[in-house]
Amino acid sequence: MAVASDDATRNCSHCDRVIPSSNFDLHFAHCSRKLEKCKICGDMVPRASAEEHFLSTHAPVSCSLCSETMEREVLAIHKGENCPQRIVTCEFCEFPLPAIDLLEHQEVCGNRTELCYLCNRYIRLRERIGHDSRCTGVADNIAESSRATRPVERDRVPQRRQPNEFSRKRLLFTIAITGIAVLLGSLLFQRKTEHSQVH
Ligand SMILES: [Zn+2]
Ligand SMILES: [Zn+2]
Ligand SMILES: [Zn+2]
Ligand SMILES: [Zn+2]
Ligand SMILES: [Zn+2]
Repeated sequence: MAVASDDATRNCSHCDRVIPSSNFDLHFAHCSRKLEKCKICGDMVPRASAEEHFLSTHAPVSCSLCSETMEREVLAIHKGENCPQRIVTCEFCEFPLPAIDLLEHQEVCGNRTELCYLCNRYIRLRERIGHDSRCTGVADNIAESSRATRPVERDRVPQRRQPNEFSRKRLLFTIAITGIAVLLGSLLFQRKTEHSQVH
């Protein structure tokens, strides 16, 4: 049986595959003429489309975001984790922006302050998470001086802003009225002078 099966197959030297003896001549003629072994992956590919196989399977690709050229195996990782132009979001304001700008943006964004309603202090956004877990709801010694003024300041702000806006509106209104009066006055004056010239 073993001898019989050895006779039943032959090894194709071109593609290095085991071929049934009955098909061998036909296979070899076709294989050696039409196919070639890809030097990179070892697959047998049609000679006519060898270049296409290389371009679509092995040729380096360029990232559509930053146009850097790389092996196609790493493209997905590059786009998801390494590309400087991939879109990420700021951890403080959740604004989407290219990764390359993130550090600089967060440097500024994280320095903004927000009022902690528990201890009534202004906390930098970058320190907010740590602060929230530590905040006792009582202003500590460092904030002692600002604690005295801040609630007053906070109460005063809305009262101060309203008259401000109100008086600004009144001022604009006054200016408008004055403007109209001046305009009417000059028109009347013009008419008077025209009349007097006619007479
Ligand atoms: Zn072959
Ligand atoms: Zn290949
Ligand atoms: Zn990229
Ligand atoms: Zn931000
Ligand atoms: Zn606090």
